[in-house]
Amino acid sequence: MSHKKVTKIGVLTSGGDSPGMNAAIRAVVRTGIYHGLEVYGIMRGYAGMLEDDIVLMDTRSVANIIQRGGTILKTARCKEFMTPEGRQKGYDNLKKRGIDGLVVIGGDGSFRGAQIFSHEFDIPCIGLPGTIDKDIAGTDFTIGFDTAVNTAIRAIDKIRDTMEAHDRLFIVEVMGRDAGYIALYSGIGTGAENILIPETKTDMNEIIASLSEKEKRRKLVNLIVVAEGEEFGGAQEVSKVVKEALPKADVRVCILGHIQRGGAPTCQDRLIASHMGYYAVESLLVGRSNVMVGVINNKIHYTPFDKAVKEKQRIGQEWMRIVKILAS
Ligand code: ADP
Repeated sequence: MSHKKVTKIGVLTSGGDSPGMNAAIRAVVRTGIYHGLEVYGIMRGYAGMLEDDIVLMDTRSVANIIQRGGTILKTARCKEFMTPEGRQKGYDNLKKRGIDGLVVIGGDGSFRGAQIFSHEFDIPCIGLPGTIDKDIAGTDFTIGFDTAVNTAIRAIDKIRDTMEAHDRLFIVEVMGRDAGYIALYSGIGTGAENILIPETKTDMNEIIASLSEKEKRRKLVNLIVVAEGEEFGGAQEVSKVVKEALPKADVRVCILGHIQRGGAPTCQDRLIASHMGYYAVESLLVGRSNVMVGVINNKIHYTPFDKAVKEKQRIGQEWMRIVKILAS
């Protein structure tokens, strides 16, 4: 590959935060410095690029962060970056420092921005999938997913204790606007009777029929895990239908919300973040651009931004069948 050698790179976190972003930042900064690059931290995603909030990092700036959730660079959404004038401002701020490569840690929206930016200006961009939702093609796991699922599982296990004590039917809502992976994994991991996700059609009649049948045989403890983006509109809406159909049932709703984004990253998230962060810098050094670094079957895999953006993973029907069988 013939390419201009990068000498100064920027790293930013953008869009929704996810646990493990700090481990990725640390890997990018330390690998960059190892290779003799100057590494700049761009604060609050593209917003900091436009507002010239950019700081030179050293190995100490990323000390003691691998175990912390959130992101030391902070994250934001930036409408102005969606305009050519905004991106020009961002480019000017990079250029005046001589930054000639960019690592963007975020979701598919952030990659869309990076793709447009690197087409407009001569700045190679590498993406790392930082999202709890695991909704990006080209990688088996995203940074933060494993932590979010484990947080959900620990919370649902606690709910199950009180659920069992009172013979209650609990409807727990987990995050996932477009993707049901958190619901699927945490639902299977906690033995949920039903898992409702955006990828599949929800047959409420079938669910009600099965709950009534369980009620008849005095199986009153039931757990339904619902992804927030599920077609009925989340746990509250599902509970209305269930309460109406089963007036005798003691139905409770719990929305786990933002606790799923926070907390110390799991070992798996720290590992993939470190692995991907290292390869983001290696990629810039060999002249790659416009690709997301992912991990497939434990091997690094590069996916062009347009594929990582457009392709959504599909949850196999097989999993839903297994859920039904195991919950009987
Ligand atoms: P995520 O990266 O988590 O999917 P968003 O979709 O909110 O989060 O995107 C994060 C940021 O990426 C946006 O606030 C915007 O600055 C930038 N971005 C997203 N889509 C585009 C686009 N089409 N053009 C330019 N920038 C974009």
